[in-house]
Amino acid sequence: MQKKNLTGMVIATAIAAAFAAPAGAASNAEITARHFASLVSGPAPKTAELAMFFNNMPKGADLHHHYSGSIYAEQYLEWVDKLGYCVDKTTWIVQTDKAADRKNCATVAELEKDPLAYRSLMHKWSTMDFYNHSEDQLAPDLAFFTTFLRFDGVASTNGNDGQKRLKERAIAENVGYIETVFEIAPITFDAEFDGKLTDEAAFAAYLAKLEASPAFNKGIADYSAYVDSSSAGIDDENFTMRYQPFVLRFLSPSIVFSQMAAGFKIASQNPKVVSVNIVGAEHYPVSMRDYSLHMRMYKFLSAKYPNVKLSLHAGELALGQVPPEGLKFHIAEALDVAGARRIGHGMDIAHERQPLAILKKMREKNIPVEVNLTSNEFILGVKGEAHPVNIYRKYGVPFVLSSDDTGVSRNTLSNEYLLFASRYKTSYAEVKKLSYDSIRYGFVAEADKQRLLKQLDARFAKFESDVATSLK
Ligand SMILES: [Zn+2]
Repeated sequence: MQKKNLTGMVIATAIAAAFAAPAGAASNAEITARHFASLVSGPAPKTAELAMFFNNMPKGADLHHHYSGSIYAEQYLEWVDKLGYCVDKTTWIVQTDKAADRKNCATVAELEKDPLAYRSLMHKWSTMDFYNHSEDQLAPDLAFFTTFLRFDGVASTNGNDGQKRLKERAIAENVGYIETVFEIAPITFDAEFDGKLTDEAAFAAYLAKLEASPAFNKGIADYSAYVDSSSAGIDDENFTMRYQPFVLRFLSPSIVFSQMAAGFKIASQNPKVVSVNIVGAEHYPVSMRDYSLHMRMYKFLSAKYPNVKLSLHAGELALGQVPPEGLKFHIAEALDVAGARRIGHGMDIAHERQPLAILKKMREKNIPVEVNLTSNEFILGVKGEAHPVNIYRKYGVPFVLSSDDTGVSRNTLSNEYLLFASRYKTSYAEVKKLSYDSIRYGFVAEADKQRLLKQLDARFAKFESDVATSLK
């Protein structure tokens, strides 16, 4: 390993030297910075050219990325076809039971011959056309969150194929590392403990019961084995992927705790698994009612597994979605109680009880926010100057740009950079820093992080050389 890393560093240094400017001349980085300034200045940003710029610019990592939400509907249909499944034409849910009545269930071949049905499926499996047609539709947040159950029948099949597609797409848009929220953490429901999980003594008693359960331990082993088998051939010199099991925050307390406990155990055993995230609509009644309880569960389990770092979805809320009191504590508790090292979304910061104290803490402890502009605009209806990204910037809180669910939102990470650059006054230096920060704040092991940063140096040297050459 040591030899490999050294070779990598020598190559990176040699590449950087090869692209260096002669003394006195503007460097490629300076030329690129001036070119970038010309694209974002003026009355309207040059978005088409910015798209070309960001599609090619090295973007380091995608740190807020959901595997099942990043697969496009077209890919899921390929798997539906391959597995001989069909899609119910009323609910648009994948039907995996081949013995069931298939009268209302379309095969992929039938869907492909029926443009209206095919497009209806796209509307239910993604946000396509949401704002440019008048078909009866759900509220945006429900349209988004209900997509997942429709393609659920195939989402956990073909994991290796899915990761390969995501890797190919990442490499095509110059991304070297993805930390993906991957597969639901194993579930245990326990009626005895469901109403009792109010304090640490109950957490400890339930944990002991879980640890003695063969089914619980099998779930952990199976999850870990699936990460290992589905990730075969994914990591190489140019690309790295790491995984976070997820807990569903709207399920009952015994399930949520069991998922968290399983997630911590998996992350402490499998080096490819780097965190335990909590997902699902934060404004649903159970998510709101149990939020503080969940943070205390995280605290309890973190004390047992102090080496597992946490990135938590927190404050993915907008004014009006819940009563104002509900906007006042989610980021604060994710930091102060659960001990989160990264905050996913952090959208309710302006409404929190002590926003300035939170911002100070995040700045001083170097805890970044994962900013997902497309997702926030669609699900929460928050964009432009209403988006808190400028609060985090102003108060010196680190942040990264990430994609959330590019399959559902039919987007790319490059387009998130485009949105950032076209909406907020920025510079090449800042977007380049965002790219580096996405590696710096990753939970990947330190040696891998250093390798990825070295690679990023070489990628930027090449990119800036290409830009400079194109302008000659
Ligand atoms: Zn997310």
